[in-house]
Amino acid sequence: MLVVDTLAELRARRRELPGPVGVVPTMGYLHAGHASLIARARAECASVIATLFVNPAQFGPSEDFARYPRDFERDRALCEREGADVLYAPPTEEVYPPDFSTAVEVGGLTARWEGEHRPGHFRGVATVVAKLLVATAADRAYFGEKDFQQLRVVERLARDLDLPVEIVPGRTVREPDGLALSSRNAYLDAETRPQASAIHTALQAARRACLAGQTEAAELAAAVERALAAADFRVDYVAIVDPATLEPLARVDRPARALVAARLGPVRLIDNLALEPPP
Ligand code: AMP
Repeated sequence: MLVVDTLAELRARRRELPGPVGVVPTMGYLHAGHASLIARARAECASVIATLFVNPAQFGPSEDFARYPRDFERDRALCEREGADVLYAPPTEEVYPPDFSTAVEVGGLTARWEGEHRPGHFRGVATVVAKLLVATAADRAYFGEKDFQQLRVVERLARDLDLPVEIVPGRTVREPDGLALSSRNAYLDAETRPQASAIHTALQAARRACLAGQTEAAELAAAVERALAAADFRVDYVAIVDPATLEPLARVDRPARALVAARLGPVRLIDNLALEPPP
């Protein structure tokens, strides 16, 4: 595996790679969720590029950019083990030179949920993802369902900018107790780690309730909020939405998605689950 940190070298290597080329964009501190995306790209593409860039533009001023966990050596080893051909890990100035002055803004889909609670977040995500998709000229790009709204935003951005790339969604990888793997799980301590699985437990209960006939979105969301409050979470939002538009649904009379963001002390976690109407 080749490690490159400049756009010029990435482009030079890219020209030599047999296609189709798959890319897996990450912010590092890699775990089995990232590994599953790289392994999937490895299985489906002739060449695989992993990218590692903690994107300052997608963090708010009071968010965790400075303390976001980093371990380059471990990340390099994981990418190599999963079969990446190239790891692109640029320094900040390579992505954002001092006179950088362009942003990509995806409207509509970003108005609610993470977009509302993290102003500017999706502008940062869309800008860096657009740059990475152009820089890697990938044929396929792999994104996790863990970040469900982000997945939809990236699909829309690729479509609206006519980028010749297929966005491939990967299933959320979880701990045995259901907690979705996340680099930010490193912030959980011995006390909060066991409580963190309450998000997935509550979402699963909503899924079961829905299948059993409770299809009112307000009732489903209220039950999830109660379960999270009982586990000491402060809830940013619980939303039952159309999985394509992310607009709220009044009732689950067709496939839907439940989205959650909630905080355990200083640690903010997000997760989501598919809901189905009763058979
Ligand atoms: P991040 O490093 O958090 O920016 O994530 C990089 C990619 O990995 C994104 O497409 C995420 O959606 C995806 N990802 C993060 N956590 C998981 C997980 N638990 N399962 C599957 N994909 C994930």
